[in-house]
Amino acid sequence: MNAHDSEKVIGTLVGQGYSQVATPEEAELVFYNTCSIRDKAEQKVFHRLQQFKKDHQGKTFAVLGCVAQQEGEKIFEKAPHVSLVCGSASYNQLPQLLVQLEAGNRRVTGLSLDTEETFETPFARRDNPHRAYLTIIEGCDKSCAYCVVPFTRGPERSRTSASVIAESAELSRAGYTEIQLLGQNVNSYRDPSPAGWDFATLLDNVGRVPGIRRVRFTTSHPRDFRKEIIDAIDRNPVLCNHVHLPVQSGSTRVLKAMQRLYTREEYMHRIAWMKAAERPIAITTDIIVGFPGETLDDLDATLGLLDEVGYDSIFSFKYSRRPNTPALALDDQIPEEEKTRRLAVVQEHQRAIQIQRNAAYVDTVEECLVEGFNKATGQWIGRTSQHKTLNFLRPASDADLTGQYLDVRVTRAGPNSLAGEAVN
Ligand code: SAM
Ligand code: SF4
Repeated sequence: MNAHDSEKVIGTLVGQGYSQVATPEEAELVFYNTCSIRDKAEQKVFHRLQQFKKDHQGKTFAVLGCVAQQEGEKIFEKAPHVSLVCGSASYNQLPQLLVQLEAGNRRVTGLSLDTEETFETPFARRDNPHRAYLTIIEGCDKSCAYCVVPFTRGPERSRTSASVIAESAELSRAGYTEIQLLGQNVNSYRDPSPAGWDFATLLDNVGRVPGIRRVRFTTSHPRDFRKEIIDAIDRNPVLCNHVHLPVQSGSTRVLKAMQRLYTREEYMHRIAWMKAAERPIAITTDIIVGFPGETLDDLDATLGLLDEVGYDSIFSFKYSRRPNTPALALDDQIPEEEKTRRLAVVQEHQRAIQIQRNAAYVDTVEECLVEGFNKATGQWIGRTSQHKTLNFLRPASDADLTGQYLDVRVTRAGPNSLAGEAVN
């Protein structure tokens, strides 16, 4: 989502007559987009800003994103060389803020969260020529006890279905074949126009835009995840057979403390829909270890859940205390070394699951979107509909295959990727 925000900001700047350069050295105005989801990301921002100051005297600096929203004007105190601080909910005001900056104002802010508008730009400067991100909903109305997002990205705002479909068609005309729909919680998408589409209807319709061969979506919240999404995937092969459904913990007690609004059983009910689908659906998740009060029994419950679901991959994190969040006040914080230990246990456990799951693909043929070429290994890098990396050889071909869809026979499997040979 942050990467796509950068693409939108670049699009806005280019629309205002600025031109993008390849390195900070060549720039007069340096925009730094930031993340504050975990403490480490935030520490990096201030470290980097200091580095910028040393290395790039005389330039104008702007801080964007979640750290901008969270720290606000305090950034001017901590890093006086910064001239613009702007959170993602205010990006639609960037053209006006830039005018102030150009006029020589050195303390410009865009920090309002009070906006009904979603950030739509006439065009985003997309990095990848084949896969395009497309935001359908901004912000988040949940209040997970550990999470800063509701404070940094503001309340939920959905885009109209007409605007999403129009942008999808435009992307198709521009040669994109894969679209990834984005939002903190895409499942609570609600079309604000009279059409009133829900997420499953929107997904299905994006998957019917001529020329679009793959549609993905992220992120789903289990509480709002509906069976209609799986029905749409069953009906429409353009919709990728991959669902990222963050669970965070396998213990209902911890889920309650996290204010996640579902039990383990309710989560497993959604997994059962996926397992009953006609095409095998790859399932991935996010896990937090070391949430305040997490016991070893709770950790065991998470390990058991990994087995029960059989995830294709996971993102796992140590709980990180975040400003303003309800969990900040909870007693029984887990020591850092213990969190590190638990994270290693979870990752080790999951690794074994992935080895086993990926081995089942050997000898199957998978359609891949070719993402690039790895000179070091001499292999093409492909991505399957299930979002698995499939590196492959295609002998006797010098042509650039990037952006093509090819069938690849899987010959080997590791914990994090597959390898094979093109069959066409
Ligand atoms: N909206 C999505 C959801 O509901 O799952 C994801 C939001 S967040 C950008 C991505 C992941 O970061 C979360 O699923 C969670 O696992 C992790 N995360 C968020 N806050 C965290 C924190 N304070 N400490 C550790 N991990 C965190
Ligand atoms: Fe954060 Fe929860 Fe919203 Fe996801 S649903 S962005 S984890 S508050």
